[in-house]
Amino acid sequence: MTQEQDRTVIYAARFLLPVSAPTIRDGAVLVRNGRISAVGTISDLEKDTPDAEVQRFRRHTIIPGAVNAHAHLGFRRGDAPEGGSFSKWLARLIERLPEKEAWTAEAAVDSAREAVEAGTTFMAESSPYGECLPQLAESGMAGTVYAEFFPRDIGDGEPEEAVDFIFQRVRELREGLPERVDCQVSVHSPYTVDPESSRLAARRTQELGWRLAVHVSESPEEVEFVRNGTGGLADIFGSNEWGGAGLSPVRYAESIELLAPGTIAAHLATEVLEEDIEVLARTGAAAAHCPRSNDFLDCGVSPVPRMMERGVRVGMGTDGLWSSPSLNLFEEALFAVNLHDFDGATGLKLATLGGARALGVGDETGSLEAGKWADLAVVESMPSGMDPEREVLEAAAGGGVVATVVGGRLIYNRAEG
Ligand SMILES: [Zn+2]
Repeated sequence: MTQEQDRTVIYAARFLLPVSAPTIRDGAVLVRNGRISAVGTISDLEKDTPDAEVQRFRRHTIIPGAVNAHAHLGFRRGDAPEGGSFSKWLARLIERLPEKEAWTAEAAVDSAREAVEAGTTFMAESSPYGECLPQLAESGMAGTVYAEFFPRDIGDGEPEEAVDFIFQRVRELREGLPERVDCQVSVHSPYTVDPESSRLAARRTQELGWRLAVHVSESPEEVEFVRNGTGGLADIFGSNEWGGAGLSPVRYAESIELLAPGTIAAHLATEVLEEDIEVLARTGAAAAHCPRSNDFLDCGVSPVPRMMERGVRVGMGTDGLWSSPSLNLFEEALFAVNLHDFDGATGLKLATLGGARALGVGDETGSLEAGKWADLAVVESMPSGMDPEREVLEAAAGGGVVATVVGGRLIYNRAEG
């Protein structure tokens, strides 16, 4: 434990929105050893702990830090392939993979910093073979890097060999990580990883009690590939011959055992029907909603309100900068609020506690409660209207985060005095 984490400190603001409890005016959290030990009014906490250092934000609101349930760090701002069609976008992305190697690490540093400066305290990142793990680990955020693997690139391309390789790689990557940074396996998608490798990897994660990230039902082209084995993705991945399963991507994912309570399924944007939602609810898989990416790639609208009604855990994800305008998760949540006509409280919860629950860390972060890690964002906002959560979300979406605290430690602070 670092010396800084060891301090007893009170973070106080004009308003405190714990998300799991009502708003507190002149609210504060008392932090000991990186965790929240009490939540209340500034005056009560100061009275009880007179020797605590106080960080006071007078014209601000404290909210839980953003939990990004699906992101990619390794894409650079400003030169995204053209959107509008998923398979055309993906084809251009693949063309540019060789040149991308030269700047991926730098892009990851920049993307992580952007996320931190937008109040993100926990991130689920997916990258090929976990290549962005060093940048997430150094960012100050807590989180998980999901290492994607592509069986055709590994040895003879035999499923057993590919799966052994990625599990060994993840074990090695886990060595020497900060306390709250983790590495797990990702089965990238139904069109890049063959069914046998997918099934083996999924089974192994479940046997080991590990977690799993997948992209599922992201695009019309994926639906066509899985159902009929034709279309834009079949053209790109001509040698991937397992398409044409005659199933929706969600049902196909279930049939190869990808869906389980430890699974975070990203996107679920195209043709996710009532029976697919039933599968998600029954298997306990969670969803990462990335509406701005889906909009950019013309992939449709994920039926998130219906999923939530059916008890599917949902969090928000920004995806990466080649399919999305920013790594600001609060901006993503505000987009979802407008898209689905949610109130501000629902949007704020999706951005924080919803994401934490979706990723299986709801007992550790996502709301301001005694016992959880002190993960919070300080927003320049003093809401006064009928929907205070929406006001704070709008401020955070618009660049109003002035400080970010992870495990009690200020990892970003541009507040005055
Ligand atoms: Zn993604």
